[in-house]
Amino acid sequence: MNLHAPDTIANYIAGNLQAPINGKYIDNINPATGSVYSQIPDSDKDDIEEAVGAAKAAFPLWSTTPGEERFKILNRIAELIDANMDALALAETNDNGKPLWLSKKVDIPRASSNFRFFATGLLHFATESHHMEDKAVNYTLRQPIGIVGCISPWNLPLYLFTWKIAPALAAGNCVIAKPSEVTPMTSYLLGLICMEAGLPAGVLNIVHGGGPKCGAAIVAHPDIKAISFTGSTRAGKEIATTAAPMFKKISLELGGKNPNLIFADCDWDKMMRTTIQSSFSNQGEICLCGSRILIEESIYEKFKTEFVARTKKLTVGDPLDEQTRQGAIVSKLHYDKVMSCIALAKEEGGTILTGGSSVTPEGRCSTGYFIQPTVIEGLGPHCRTNMEEIFGPVVTLQSFKTEEEALMLANTSDYGLAATIWTQDVSRANRMAMKVHSGIIWVNCWLLRDLRTPFGGFKNSGVGREGGWDAMRFFTEPKNVCIEL
Ligand code: NAD
Repeated sequence: MNLHAPDTIANYIAGNLQAPINGKYIDNINPATGSVYSQIPDSDKDDIEEAVGAAKAAFPLWSTTPGEERFKILNRIAELIDANMDALALAETNDNGKPLWLSKKVDIPRASSNFRFFATGLLHFATESHHMEDKAVNYTLRQPIGIVGCISPWNLPLYLFTWKIAPALAAGNCVIAKPSEVTPMTSYLLGLICMEAGLPAGVLNIVHGGGPKCGAAIVAHPDIKAISFTGSTRAGKEIATTAAPMFKKISLELGGKNPNLIFADCDWDKMMRTTIQSSFSNQGEICLCGSRILIEESIYEKFKTEFVARTKKLTVGDPLDEQTRQGAIVSKLHYDKVMSCIALAKEEGGTILTGGSSVTPEGRCSTGYFIQPTVIEGLGPHCRTNMEEIFGPVVTLQSFKTEEEALMLANTSDYGLAATIWTQDVSRANRMAMKVHSGIIWVNCWLLRDLRTPFGGFKNSGVGREGGWDAMRFFTEPKNVCIEL
């Protein structure tokens, strides 16, 4: 295959590439240059209706296709993602603004891992049996739900899109999927890969468009029985409002405001190297980035000096340049939001230790959306800067004296997605891990992911867990069968 990004993207419905029924399109902008480089279908409920029709027609065969056959097709998709790594990585970078080396190192390899992981997983998925001594035996069937909806965000486009689609298909469902309208290109290319891999028509339908029209039509459709959503807490609330009275299964992976707790006894070099990554990787646009850095008082000044010096060295610029450490912010809208958060931090009395301004690279990126990595101190735990998600290259520093104070600061948040703890004291690490209100805790590391582990957040960070058997269970309906002996 020879994949390339076209001028006009099509929907992938019933195994075909189709224009939106209403004939309307949205501009797709490369954030590194600020210029329009393709058109995206502005699909609505009519396209969703057609996709649901295709999925209904495909479901009887796909849900009864032997596991080994499903495995072969999903594994072939993984192989084709790997074989088309360069084209997919370039498309991801042009859509999202992330450095090309990062797309090649993380985003695209992870997309193929997602397919490979759930392709093999379906061969090993097993259910429970409960025996009632000599009275009866129960066994639990886990049957595919039917038609499910998968909606994903712009920060890790193909990575998070496939993280939902792969388990949904592996479990035997047919899928209506919508990527973010801000970064649609790699999911369009995934449709071409699915055609090449021999995925039967209608099993996966990829419909492009905005959230309020296209995404909302997926959520509201009565024949779509489960919604797996990753995105903002705001949109998650709207989705739950529609889906709950319809008794749909929902999995919501939402925002974060993650604490990074640094104790004086940490492995300094490793902590420092990793904290730069956990603060600014992907321009800070990862839901797992640690945006509130909490530092034990005795090392606060030392940390500040070295962290600021290292942050200043991060090269911001053209995502296609190998030397670039920070690419473009994903869109003008998001760039404006991040800049307004920096202005708010100043109004709230914060001190900008480094960054705080936009960057204008020379050459082709002079009209793109770039922001300096920014470090802020002097703000308390309850101010808006420390309570609201910024989702950009902006972190704050706060100091603590005791474990209790560290915990109080860490848990002063409406969110509870992830936390990082840096200490060489294993007992303290366990104590803190027990008490921090987050679904994911990393001790002396960050973003180390085993795809078998539960992934998701407490509080306003979401409902449910993805990953491993949690994902396979979400995408199936358990049915208990009791047989009297
Ligand atoms: P967003 O909520 O604006 O959009 C996410 C997706 O939902 C897009 O496809 C969008 O078109 C769609 N959408 C928006 N409104 C909708 C509605 N009412 N009904 C149905 N669909 C709708 O989020 P975003 O700006 O694309 O992504 C950034 C957010 O995602 C951040 O808050 C970040 O923390 C979160 N995120 C969370 C995780 C996680 O695993 N918890 C991972 C990545 C990103």
